[in-house]
Amino acid sequence: EGFVVSFGEMIIDFVPTVAGVSLAEAPGFVKAPGGAPANAAIAVARLGGHVAFIGKLGADEFGFMLAAILKDNGVNDKGVVFDDTARTGLSFVTLRNDGERDFMFYRNPSADMLLRESELNLDLVRRATIFHYGSISLIEEPCRSTQLAAMEIAKKAGALLSFDPNLRLRLWESPKDAQALIMRIWKQSNIIKVSDAEVEFLTNKDAVEDDAVMSLWHPELKLLLVTLGGKGCKYYTKDFRGTVKGIAVKPVDTTGAGDAFVGAMLRKIADDQSTLQDEKKLTEVLRFANACGAITTTKRGAIPALPKEAEVLELLERD
Ligand code: ATP
Repeated sequence: EGFVVSFGEMIIDFVPTVAGVSLAEAPGFVKAPGGAPANAAIAVARLGGHVAFIGKLGADEFGFMLAAILKDNGVNDKGVVFDDTARTGLSFVTLRNDGERDFMFYRNPSADMLLRESELNLDLVRRATIFHYGSISLIEEPCRSTQLAAMEIAKKAGALLSFDPNLRLRLWESPKDAQALIMRIWKQSNIIKVSDAEVEFLTNKDAVEDDAVMSLWHPELKLLLVTLGGKGCKYYTKDFRGTVKGIAVKPVDTTGAGDAFVGAMLRKIADDQSTLQDEKKLTEVLRFANACGAITTTKRGAIPALPKEAEVLELLERD
């Protein structure tokens, strides 16, 4: 059985109880645990997959709450460590009227940025079938070096490396920095999932065309996915490429849809790596991943909305 190990930040989003107001005007906030790599780990576990999360939390009530959420969801938490002084990362969300979200982060620094190489659970890293990560954990040291080291150890031990940049431009010193570091680990990654907006950012183009996407291709890459919101996703491999249509639902909150998609895809590929060479298998997996993303948009919040396998199969049957 495959084993997915997801590395990075787990934080709490404070989401306003009403949309279309400023942070100052918001009457209240609801805690929404998140952080893309943690969401993706929980997505794998919900679907019955074998998965661990590696990251650092504050030794505070919020950190203990997040660790409990991992455990309660069946995510192996042996790679979770606590920082004695820094707090668990928080972000305050603004829900804009156009449906987009803005984030104000509390990272001065937050515990997630402080994971040291000496704190890595090497046993987990070496056992990974797929080692998954994002780019937020690359922004600051010491976490950046820890991630780069973990990627190398996982790869040496035979894991596939999976990357979802989850670009949050606001957190970087400059767009140039973001591009440079993202492209550095891009070239080491075997599976990459990006959104159409991220392709535009990385290629400096304002339309996602196959040529632009293929300009990002490199020899280590086995599968490149571009998610297209309600329209589904595009897939690119060395030998074949195509589109898998999205599944029509009534979206309420799209938070976590990308993470659900990634979790579903990794859960399936970890169990059967021949999916990467077999277009029929791959398109089936991506239909399943699209359904997971779709279901996640139909409920508020990321983690509470992540589906179990039975829900996904039911939606696919109805479609
Ligand atoms: P995130 O908001 O989590 O960062 P993302 O931009 O990485 O998301 P999206 O393209 O929004 O990713 O969504 C990921 C997948 O979820 C899509 O490929 C699609 O399968 C599904 N999905 C997203 N939005 C919708 C929708 N409105 N209707 C149906 N499916 C959706």
